[in-house]
Amino acid sequence: MHIKTIASIISGLNSREFSSVEVTQYYLNRIQQLDGIYNCYITVNEEFALAQAKASDKQRASGNFPLFCGVPIAHKDIFCTKGVRTSCGSKMLDNFIPPYDATVVEKFYHSGAVVLGKTNMDEFAMGSSNETSFYGSVKNPWDTNTVPGGSSGGSAAAIASHLTPGATGTDTGGSIRQPAALCGITGLKPTYGRVSRWGMIAFASSLDQAGPMARTAEDCALMLNVMAGFDPKDSTSINKSVPDYTLDLSHTVEGLKIGVPKEYFQKGLNPETEKAILEALSQLEKQGASLVSIDLPHTNLAVPAYYVIAPAEASANLSRFDGVRYGHRCENPIDLRDMYMRSRAEGFGDEVKRRILVGTYCLSAGYYDAYYRKAQQVRRLIKQDFVSAFESVDVIMGPTSPTPAFEFGSKSNDPIAMYLEDIFTIATNLAGLPGMSVPCGFVDKKPVGLQIIGNYFEEARMLNVAHQFQCVTGWHQQIPEGVKLSSENEEGVN
Ligand code: GLN
Repeated sequence: MHIKTIASIISGLNSREFSSVEVTQYYLNRIQQLDGIYNCYITVNEEFALAQAKASDKQRASGNFPLFCGVPIAHKDIFCTKGVRTSCGSKMLDNFIPPYDATVVEKFYHSGAVVLGKTNMDEFAMGSSNETSFYGSVKNPWDTNTVPGGSSGGSAAAIASHLTPGATGTDTGGSIRQPAALCGITGLKPTYGRVSRWGMIAFASSLDQAGPMARTAEDCALMLNVMAGFDPKDSTSINKSVPDYTLDLSHTVEGLKIGVPKEYFQKGLNPETEKAILEALSQLEKQGASLVSIDLPHTNLAVPAYYVIAPAEASANLSRFDGVRYGHRCENPIDLRDMYMRSRAEGFGDEVKRRILVGTYCLSAGYYDAYYRKAQQVRRLIKQDFVSAFESVDVIMGPTSPTPAFEFGSKSNDPIAMYLEDIFTIATNLAGLPGMSVPCGFVDKKPVGLQIIGNYFEEARMLNVAHQFQCVTGWHQQIPEGVKLSSENEEGVN
């Protein structure tokens, strides 16, 4: 069997080239042989996946079945899965077995997808390198000495190493786009409110958004069709009809106006990364798009504003993990206070503790106005920058990440250097806009991602541009050396 995209798995299942049991077994074999190297999965549901695959083959035979019937995917371990451990990458939830499914998980069940397992991630989605996971870091399949990005690094690396054709991710400040860029895959963070957050363990509720990660824009469109939509259980979910995201894929990009922010090409951007981005932009120009230089003047304030708002929300959200309602409980507490203190001290890792401390401080009575209120004002200015820019352009493009994948340990002792990894992705979360990352080149054999930012609810247009770019480029089809199984003779991707 050749390495597949979701679209080609759907057509192979439809034409009976293979069964769901066969394709599921294929991925399970790969996971068994290769995940020891990459560590993409926290939990693999072999038995459960095969039972689902068997059931979907039966359903297909009946002639009446949903689109994803029998297609294997994986979920980031931040989505609650009924009866299956959901750790959020933390010791705190190492023993948590949710009694319910997240809406996104439920939607994939209803669409017939088979769940291979739960992917590794930074603890509580806090990180840009997967180095904060309690389950050990994920290795980047392009160079196992380097990080896969984070926090959805397990999902990104699992797709890059072909341990799943697609996976869910979440993005609070870049956690879908940055690992997608570093692993050479395609990922999309939708408009805030487009996809339900119900059952997705909360990090920073006003920023968190779930989205698809896959090899191609077409696959992301297929997945977003399943994921998007109103959910009465999420009060921030938007009641707006969902288009078929595959319908616009084949439109031409002729006449498209691409805004190129000056602030995204400053000092700190790796010159080779910059070159790859500029080449991608000139490729789109050749296809008929035009480039317009724009200003997003408050770009440099995005990281500082985010690192007040996100920790503030996290400190509130994570207060529920106290060893009573959820999570790890310490042994032999002397009294209640000791139980709370030791359970939290033992259950959370350093980065999570840092965020809780910063967040609690910013929200405290004496500092609320100086930090939290100020950050919210800056957030408004950042949003206004985008609103003005979208008056004259259709999409905005630039780098997803300032550098390609970096080595383990190179930033983990310097939180600020790590936080700056998201300098180009965070502003879209603060504004609630959709953003995506598409492979557009290599620097030292490491992938580079082109970021596409769209206006509110314009995911279809972003997917269209990304797809048109992928129709004439081959970056998304490259396969890292070393991801092939010794027993296989695979010739490429289809
Ligand atoms: N790297 C950012 C952080 O650590 C973003 C994480 C995310 O998007 N979940 O907060």
